[in-house]
This record gives sequence, structure tokens and C-alpha cells, in this order.
Amino acid sequence: MGCRRVQRAVFFWVDRDQEERIVERIARHLEECPQCRDRATEIERLILLVRSRCPRRAAPSRLQDQILSLLERQ
Ligand SMILES: [Zn+2]
Repeated sequence: MGCRRVQRAVFFWVDRDQEERIVERIARHLEECPQCRDRATEIERLILLVRSRCPRRAAPSRLQDQILSLLERQ
């Protein structure tokens, strides 16, 4: 998995329980890539901040499937 894909998919990593296959691949990349790790940590911090202030609803499952298939196609 390259840096660009990791950075686009990093929200899966923030929700570690959502998509294990992708979370694992991202985590592996983050171990070896300090640049993405810093970015991921920053994004996670922002997401957690937003969630702590806004009520949240899950994306529709069709949208989640579309995102996943896009990520796997590349
Ligand atoms: Zn990277």
C-alpha cells in the first residue's frame, strides 16, 4: 500500500474495528513510514475532536462498500 492510498484510507484505521483487512495494511505501512504515521495521528486527533463535539451517524453501508471496492481496485 502506497502513501497516497494510506492517507486516503486512514479513516478506516481510526475506526480500527471496521475493516480489519484494510486496517492491518494501513497499520503495517504506518510502522514503516513516519511521514504517514504523523499524518494519521493528526487526522485521528481531528476526527476524535469532531466526534466528541458532534453527534455522529454511520455512513450508509452502500457507500462504505463503494469506498472499499475503490480502494481495492487500485
Ligand atoms: Zn507512507
